[in-house]
Amino acid sequence: MPKKKREKDLIPQPNSRFLRVKCLNCGNQQIIFGCSATDVECLVCGKVLLQSTGGKARILTKILEVLS
Ligand SMILES: [Zn+2]
Repeated sequence: MPKKKREKDLIPQPNSRFLRVKCLNCGNQQIIFGCSATDVECLVCGKVLLQSTGGKARILTKILEVLS
């Protein structure tokens, strides 16, 4: 596991990396792929965490950590 890092604010342009995000709606944390081709929803409440915009994905929630 990577070392624990401080929480970061939204990262503008995440690349093809895995991101640990926190759902702003319910607080659930999960790992998502930063350039997913499909929308990614929170596994708990169904809120869209990552929106696919045809090539570039937009993160709609808080990124806790970028996993390289
Ligand atoms: Zn949620």
